[in-house]
Amino acid sequence: MTTETTRKSDLHSPSTRGLVVTIDGPAGAGKSTVARHLAARFGLLNLETGAMYRAFALKAQRVATAFDNEDALALLSGSTIITLMQQPDGNRVLLDGEDVTALLRTPEITDAASRVSVHPRVRAWMVARQQELGAHGGVVMEGRDIGTVVFPHADVKIFLDASPEVRGQRRFEQTGNTPAARPSDEVAKELRARDERDRNRAVSPLRPAADAIILDSTYLTLEEVLLHAEEIVRTALTQRS
Ligand code: C5P
Repeated sequence: MTTETTRKSDLHSPSTRGLVVTIDGPAGAGKSTVARHLAARFGLLNLETGAMYRAFALKAQRVATAFDNEDALALLSGSTIITLMQQPDGNRVLLDGEDVTALLRTPEITDAASRVSVHPRVRAWMVARQQELGAHGGVVMEGRDIGTVVFPHADVKIFLDASPEVRGQRRFEQTGNTPAARPSDEVAKELRARDERDRNRAVSPLRPAADAIILDSTYLTLEEVLLHAEEIVRTALTQRS
C-alpha cells in the first residue's frame, strides 16, 4: 500500500495546518457526507478508511481468499497496494494500480469488508497505512476506529450516530432510485449485521473515544448536522490558536 494522495495545498489556511479531525460511527450515520463537507470547508484531505477495507475485500474475493482465513489474508496484504486519491467528486481508490472505486459499493463487497476487517493482522496493516496517510495532518479521516486507535491524539473527534431505523431509511433512500435498489428490510438487515460485527469484534470495536463529541443526527436535518460539525471544528481551531 502506498501513501500517495493529492492535496489541495492552496486551500490550507495556516490555522488548519497539521489538524487531524476524526469521524467515527456506525454505517449510514452520514460520516462520508460530513467528512466531505468539512474537508471542503476547511481545506482538509478527506480520507475514507472504509474504502480501503472495501478494496482489500475485493482483492480477497478476486483471488478467492476466504474472508475468515486470517493467515491467508495477512499474507495477501503483503502483496496488495491500496492508494487513496482525493478528487473533486470524492475519493478514488486504486487497488494494485487499478481504479476500483465503482466496484466497492455492492452488497457483496460491503459484507466482505465487514468480515475481513475483524482480523487483528488486517487491522494492524490498515492502521499503519492510515497513520502514514495522516501523518502530516491537514486531514479529516473517517471510519470506525480513527479516534480510538488510528489517531488517539487527534485535535477533533466526532462520533456521528443515529438510530438504526433512521440509518436504515437513509441508506435505503440513497439507493432507492438506482439500479442498486434493494428492499428496505434487506438494507436494514445488512446494516444491523455490520453494526453487530463492528461493535462486537475483539480488536478495535466500534465505540466513541472517551474524548469524542457525540453528534446524534436522528432528529436533525442534514444542514443542521453539517452546521454542528463545522462549529465543533471551528471551536477546536479557536482553542488551538
Ligand atoms: O465505512 P464503510 O461502510 O465503507 O466501511 C466498510 C466496512 O469496513 C465497515 O462495515 C467496517 O466493518 C469496516 N471498517 C472498519 N474500520 C474502519 C473503516 C471501515 O472496520 N476504520
